[in-house]
Amino acid sequence: MGISPFDIAGKSAIVTGGAMGIGFGVVRRLVEAGANVLIADLNGELAALRMSELEGPGKAASIGIDVSAHDAGRTLVDECIANFGSVDILVNNAGIYPMSPMLDQSLEGWQRVIDINLTGLAFVSKAAAQQMVEQGNGGKIINIASIDALHPSMVGLAAYDSSKGGVLMFTRALALELGPHAITVNAIAPGGINTEGTAAPLQGSGMTAEEMDAMLEQFAAAIPLRRMGEPDDIANVTLFLASPASNYITGELIVVDGGRLLG
Ligand code: NAD
Repeated sequence: MGISPFDIAGKSAIVTGGAMGIGFGVVRRLVEAGANVLIADLNGELAALRMSELEGPGKAASIGIDVSAHDAGRTLVDECIANFGSVDILVNNAGIYPMSPMLDQSLEGWQRVIDINLTGLAFVSKAAAQQMVEQGNGGKIINIASIDALHPSMVGLAAYDSSKGGVLMFTRALALELGPHAITVNAIAPGGINTEGTAAPLQGSGMTAEEMDAMLEQFAAAIPLRRMGEPDDIANVTLFLASPASNYITGELIVVDGGRLLG
């Protein structure tokens, strides 16, 4: 019997923003598939707590970190190596989506979104890629973008949409550069996914809870598959992109939105 093309047993992975939402869904799938995962999250306490919910066979470790901090990438690589001996997979999932119409947007608010969603992702990728090149066994970098990288979904997300458009182009540029090292770089564009983040009233939106519910209902009604996504919908595609099954795919964006962009 041949080795499964989906086998990632024994690989070492870093998942940013891994303490909840899509990130934790990804952590759960990778650990279940036998990878050892470093859960990296701004909320280090929650990241540590959630390790007890994982059942293996892969192992987990956790670290509290802001991906936009100077040298966050090096810290994550060092921590992953200290725990598991290598860095084979990086899932750049940490991201924020505060709402603000551009007419009211502060420079600080704009910069925070770009710093976390784009610059943090780029420099964590740089550190992981340097390590993967040194190891000489290839690697997998997976960036969680958004359908907003292709099409704005609502008013109030100019900074966010710009950051995710940047993630898409960064994915392609890095894939071009790292191809000769057998490191693939791909992105996933989730549509509306039920997470702790989307359940919270969107900060700065100025909407009441009722208005927010109505907006989400309207969003879900426009999804051809007639449901919001779940973190596992994104985690399964992440697992594919982390596995040898996707070895000849690089610089790609996979839209996982229940068909939302079709309408
Ligand atoms: P969430 O808010 O539920 O969880 C995000 C996690 O990231 C939290 O654990 C948070 O502590 C962590 N985090 C935030 N800032 C961080 C930082 N600076 N450094 C390290 N960790 C940080 O979010 P989610 O809904 O699961 O979204 C995850 C990713 O998916 C984001 O990049 C988001 O833009 C993207 N996305 C989400 C949706 C959706 O509908 N939920 C749709 C498209 C794209």
